[in-house]
Amino acid sequence: MEWETVIGLEIHAQLATKSKIFSGASTAYGADPNTQACAIDLGMPGVLPVLNQDAVRMAAMFGLAIGAEVAQRSVFARKNYFYPDLPKGYQISQYELPVAQKGQLHIDLEQGASKLIGITRAHLEEDAGKSLHEDFQGLSGIDLNRAGTPLLEIVSEPDLRSAKEAVAYMKKLHQMVVYLGICDGNMQEGSFRCDANVSVRRQGDPKLGTRAEIKNLNSFRFVERAIEFEIERQIDLIEAGGKVVQETRLYDPDKGETRSMRGKEEANDYRYFPDPDLLPLVIDQDVIAAIRASLPELPDAKKQRFITQYGLSGYDAGVLTTSRALGDYYEATVAALSGEPKLCANWVMGDLSAFLNKDNREITDSPVNPAQLAGLLRRIQDGTISGKIAKDVFEALWAGEGETDAIIEKRGLRQITDASAIESVIEAVIAANPEQLAQYRAGKDKLFGFFVGQAMKASKGKANPQQLNELLEKKLKG
Ligand code: ADP
Ligand code: MG
Repeated sequence: MEWETVIGLEIHAQLATKSKIFSGASTAYGADPNTQACAIDLGMPGVLPVLNQDAVRMAAMFGLAIGAEVAQRSVFARKNYFYPDLPKGYQISQYELPVAQKGQLHIDLEQGASKLIGITRAHLEEDAGKSLHEDFQGLSGIDLNRAGTPLLEIVSEPDLRSAKEAVAYMKKLHQMVVYLGICDGNMQEGSFRCDANVSVRRQGDPKLGTRAEIKNLNSFRFVERAIEFEIERQIDLIEAGGKVVQETRLYDPDKGETRSMRGKEEANDYRYFPDPDLLPLVIDQDVIAAIRASLPELPDAKKQRFITQYGLSGYDAGVLTTSRALGDYYEATVAALSGEPKLCANWVMGDLSAFLNKDNREITDSPVNPAQLAGLLRRIQDGTISGKIAKDVFEALWAGEGETDAIIEKRGLRQITDASAIESVIEAVIAANPEQLAQYRAGKDKLFGFFVGQAMKASKGKANPQQLNELLEKKLKG
């Protein structure tokens, strides 16, 4: 039996404002519990919320970046529910009139395939506090620092068809909000988290199946695993004659399974109504135009530009535009070298990335800057060192041993291009291997590689490879 999976994601991106969405309290992460929740965040009697303009600007930026309609008028509503981490008894959110609607995001899939995913809406809301279940011996602690932190909830159409597509979409969205500078993207700290709605239906069935919603997934890996598990569970259930019930489920990463948390609430359970303390949010056309003008170059456009401007493959261009910082680093290197974009790409994606990984550093924190990398590549270009020796020089640059030229001199790494010097190395190698010479001359061509290796070793890797090959061939032929 052929099954089709249908997935829609609701993603919460924490907006990178300094203060909360309706109060002046700080949003900084990691403060002592309950030191950053003010009377407004707690909903004390008599307080009034005041909307943070920067949160609005960020939401509008996002809407424009995904080609959505940014609403000139949207409305904040109260979503009422009872939970210990929400002492005021309601969350301020947007319901019927969200700030952005009808956008889309382009995702890349395997083997060069790609797909457009519809984004139904993005709306502003406040976060709730946090319940802490450890450390309190049978009791729960409540930390309200997070209460009132601005969130952008981004709701996709049910356009995703596999766990892999869901992860590709989530990664693309993550890249987008970080590019825009509206979210720090830190998933460990909960700045970017996902609820996954999953259903299955028989291939060709026009009706959507009943969905389960898996709450609060805070890593790409968990999203993939939770969805995979949920697909299996639903298919097994239906094939055994059962029925999927609409409900909220939790993913347990230790057990690798989802389990039921509560039945799904309906919208009317929340008794939504417009918040009487807040005026409708009006964004003028000229404000929208100014925000549009402030948008940075977006990931897809940058990737396309890298392909045309630098002649890179789609793959290389994709990797180099993963983050703005990486793209900036790459372009600064090309500019400093005034050319050789492919050589620069190879080094940024190769040695540089490997060293960053090894030391667990961000590109903005690289001990080798673009000018230094370009300085090294210039010495490959002008034949001072080979590409292979350059790897050693790079390691020395990384370790802070000085600049490229100084390292080359100090370590005596300059490439040998003097023909007579290369010849004498070759002669010594031939003299030391009479048997191999005889075999080579008797027709065992493969031994050429052996002689190249020996001669290169004897020159400590410094002989110009092309000259070495030519001279060696001449000498071996006698
Ligand atoms: P709610 O507000 O109750 O969570 P929505 O209708 O807003 O419900 O949908 C939330 C998310 O669930 C959206 O991302 C949507 O694409 C997705 N979704 C809706 N129906 C299904 C379904 N049958 N299977 C999978 N995803 C679905
Ligand atoms: Mg939902």
